Amino acid sequence: AAPLLEVADLHVEFRTRDGVAKVLNGVSYHIQAGETLAVLGESGSGKSVTAQTVMGILDSPPAFVTGGSVRFRGEELLTASPERRRAVRGDNVAMIFQDALSALNPVFTVGFQIEEQLRVRRGVSRAEARKRAVELLDLVKIPNAKRRVREYPHEFSGGMRQRAMIAMSLALDPDVLIADEPTTALDVTVQAQIMDLLAEIQRDRHMGLVLITHDLGVVAEVADRIVVMYAGRIVEQADVRTLFREPGHPYTRALMESLPRLDLKGSTLTTIKGLPPNLLRIPSGCPFHPRCPMAAERCRTDLPAPVRLGPERTSACHFAEELISRG
Ligand code: SF4
Ligand code: MG
Repeated sequence: AAPLLEVADLHVEFRTRDGVAKVLNGVSYHIQAGETLAVLGESGSGKSVTAQTVMGILDSPPAFVTGGSVRFRGEELLTASPERRRAVRGDNVAMIFQDALSALNPVFTVGFQIEEQLRVRRGVSRAEARKRAVELLDLVKIPNAKRRVREYPHEFSGGMRQRAMIAMSLALDPDVLIADEPTTALDVTVQAQIMDLLAEIQRDRHMGLVLITHDLGVVAEVADRIVVMYAGRIVEQADVRTLFREPGHPYTRALMESLPRLDLKGSTLTTIKGLPPNLLRIPSGCPFHPRCPMAAERCRTDLPAPVRLGPERTSACHFAEELISRG
């Protein structure tokens, strides 16, 4: 069967006054029902742009989708009619963001925003929509849902607002939920609670969950597979266990070394040296070469193609096989 959601060889550029920024340079990934895929990368790696392209919310200048494909259950969305794309959005694929405050409308109650979707898209009665909204707030574990359904977004704490956004995204019962840095703006305790909630909902509803994050620590416990992005490309993909046990790309290794370690109290946090590349001038050869501790001569000239290291496991590094056999 076709994957639930599949992105293939996606190319996106931003045509700016300073030149053309190549933000996606052939991104491919897929997700099945009941699976959590983590998309990991620093800011500017293209992880959000990929998701926005999937949602069809990145379809006006200066952004241009210059190639590739986005399919939901085999149906191409990039060339589908605006009506069809709108129907898929929410009904089949929904998205939540880092900043719930800007995703929720400040002038309407939280309940109204959930109910409106149900009334407009499902033709549900006012009373029935209210009942569903309360159920959804209950589902995301917002206490006193009956009362809080009548409150405005600003009356919610950061964590509760994130829960409300999750409730809203579930209103139309999507098959895939894309969560873009859903916990980044929250404090650590609340982060863990929201992540647990997302994992629980994903399991209970057998949804596909695409979890976008810059934080490798966040994904270890919830993701099944990971794709690691750099400069608009996927540099490594693997199942989570394999990736943690035996990272097959120098960039993934560097990300792991920059993780704070609980067993080494007081150890200094190593960060990856250098900056992510300017997408107006992506380095020649391997885009990671200016920052790579393993870079060799050919890395400056030859773009590494993804090397297959196992089932659903690839690394785009000239030395991927050596890296793995060396351990
Ligand atoms: Fe480093 Fe070269 Fe591998 Fe790129 S191809 S990650 S520069 S070793
Ligand atoms: Mg982002």
